[in-house]
Amino acid sequence: MRAMLERINDGVCIINQNYQLVTYNHAFMSMLGYTNDEMYSLFIWDFDHTLSEQKVRDTYPSFANTQATFQTVHKRKNNDTYIAQITAAGTNVLGESMVLCIVRDITEQEVLKNSLLEFKSTVDKASDCVFMFDPHSLLFTYVNEGALRHVGYTSDALYKMHPYDIKPEFGREAFTQLIQPLVKHREPSLKFKTIHRHKDGHDINVSINLQLVESELGAAKFIAIVHDITEETKLKSLLESNKEALEKEVENRTRQLVEAKEKAESANMAKSRFLANMSHEIRTPITSILGFSDLLKRESLSPSQQQAIKKISTASEHLLGLLSSVLDMSKIESGTYELKEQTVDVKKLIDEAIILNEERLASKGLQISVELPHVLPTYVGDITALLQGVINYVSNAIKYTDKGGVIVRASIVRQYADKDELRFEVEDTGIGIDASAMEKIFEPFEQADTSFGRKYGGIGIGLSITKKIAALYEGDAGVKSTLGSGSTFWFTCVLKRNNQQKEGDDRALDSESLLTHLHTYCADKNVLVVDDEKFNLALLEQILGDVAQLTVKTASNGQQAIALVQEQSFDMVFMDIQMPIMDGIEATKAIRECVGKDTLPIIALTGNIFLDVNADEFERLFNDVISKPFKVDDLLSKTLTLLTTHSQ
Ligand code: ADP
Repeated sequence: MRAMLERINDGVCIINQNYQLVTYNHAFMSMLGYTNDEMYSLFIWDFDHTLSEQKVRDTYPSFANTQATFQTVHKRKNNDTYIAQITAAGTNVLGESMVLCIVRDITEQEVLKNSLLEFKSTVDKASDCVFMFDPHSLLFTYVNEGALRHVGYTSDALYKMHPYDIKPEFGREAFTQLIQPLVKHREPSLKFKTIHRHKDGHDINVSINLQLVESELGAAKFIAIVHDITEETKLKSLLESNKEALEKEVENRTRQLVEAKEKAESANMAKSRFLANMSHEIRTPITSILGFSDLLKRESLSPSQQQAIKKISTASEHLLGLLSSVLDMSKIESGTYELKEQTVDVKKLIDEAIILNEERLASKGLQISVELPHVLPTYVGDITALLQGVINYVSNAIKYTDKGGVIVRASIVRQYADKDELRFEVEDTGIGIDASAMEKIFEPFEQADTSFGRKYGGIGIGLSITKKIAALYEGDAGVKSTLGSGSTFWFTCVLKRNNQQKEGDDRALDSESLLTHLHTYCADKNVLVVDDEKFNLALLEQILGDVAQLTVKTASNGQQAIALVQEQSFDMVFMDIQMPIMDGIEATKAIRECVGKDTLPIIALTGNIFLDVNADEFERLFNDVISKPFKVDDLLSKTLTLLTTHSQ
């Protein structure tokens, strides 16, 4: 018996009612790690980690009837522990109760069991469903909690079922076909969408990722990770069904937008036409007023007559200024303001703004000074626009200042690789502006003083034009002011530095030299003047005939002009653009079919700053342009240049 006990792997021992070992096998001694002598002196509570002496005595007053299998924890001599599974059977031997215990170390088994349980509970909590099934029987072998909820069966029920039992689209055969690529190892995994049928009969849209996984022990299992896509599918089909309605809606909206856009465009065109006509209608009479005044100034008049003429000119220039402001504003707002690229000399620009205001400065007895950096490069920009920006500030400074003076400043506030940010400032010692009005005065038609009895005239668009011009050059405008002691208006603009050296200085000839040149070099020249407006025609005839002493022929529309050009040869044509019967563009197109720009210079006369002609076409037809109203000297200077550079 002893020899056989020694061959058993489990520990075996007999314990007496003193709770001490009577005998044991070698396996048990190794499990506890004590020597033979030590083994015999051990009590149960010395090696059972879970039991105190008291507990042992209370629980086992007698071993005689003990018959149990249980787990406990044993402590080895070196204090290590192991989980022991004990099978105990007690009896009476010669009047003494004893118990035989078979002890098995199940630590490893328990750890494995616990980690499996942990793994299962983790997988159970996963939001996707996990199904495993056997490759041969196709029976489910494991499903997580999510999968049970998904199909509504208990695990016991499900373990008697196959994947195709929950897939209404598949029978066993079709399902077997489906998994062939995995069975034959042709594919590492299969991803597909299908339908699962819940126990209660409703269908669930699912996407499945199916793999055949070989375990290390060689037993292969199919694992399916199933994702419920019911919501997704519903949304998709909802979207699909809405798509058509949406497309129709978009089509409708687009059509409405196109219609609205067309309406806006035609309204805009009507506005542009109105402005063009207004510009033409107003500029034409002003041309006559200014032109004839200019001519009269050349006569020997009495001082009072000179004074009267000067007043006529000043008043009409003011009128023209107003007209230009309103038109500039509309052009900027409609985005049709085209910035020219001209050489901008900041000092000249400021001087010009001051010269144009000289008389008003003198009449108010105001001082004006200019502060500029010592060195300032020239820039590329639109002289008219920038000058307008400065003039608006300078003329306001004079208008709203009764004593003291005005300082005009320009400085570079930031430098970039090839451009500078410039800041223009105009400081005055005038009436200043109330803080509450400062915000709004840069808005069109806003003024600080809105009362009927206001002292200063004006229409309230100068500042907004300056601000808009600044914006065209990536800048801004603003003011610092103290009511009663003065204001400093500023605007900034980013201008490209001008790297090209100016080709010669376009030094203008004075009136006298202009006339001498014209009389000397152009005495025998024939010119044709075409204009429908008889005062303007008379004005041009007088300037070009009487003053410049050229031979002048006139025509009052395009058709007459063409006929005259065909009849006789001219050295130059002055062509008004807007005319009845045939306008200047049509007429010039016809003339250009026979005579090129080099042979016959044609200069366009226009009072319409909204010319509806593209720039290339204009360039192809005309040698130069004079806008109405013009200064007599400007007209004469252009005439001299064209006649002397195109003399046949
Ligand atoms: P306008 O001068 O024609 O009324 P602006 O747009 O040039 O129009 O100016 C708007 C308003 O800003 C003016 O009506 C005036 O109240 C105020 N303003 C402009 N410049 C000055 C200034 N230098 N000093 C005081 N107030 C000014």
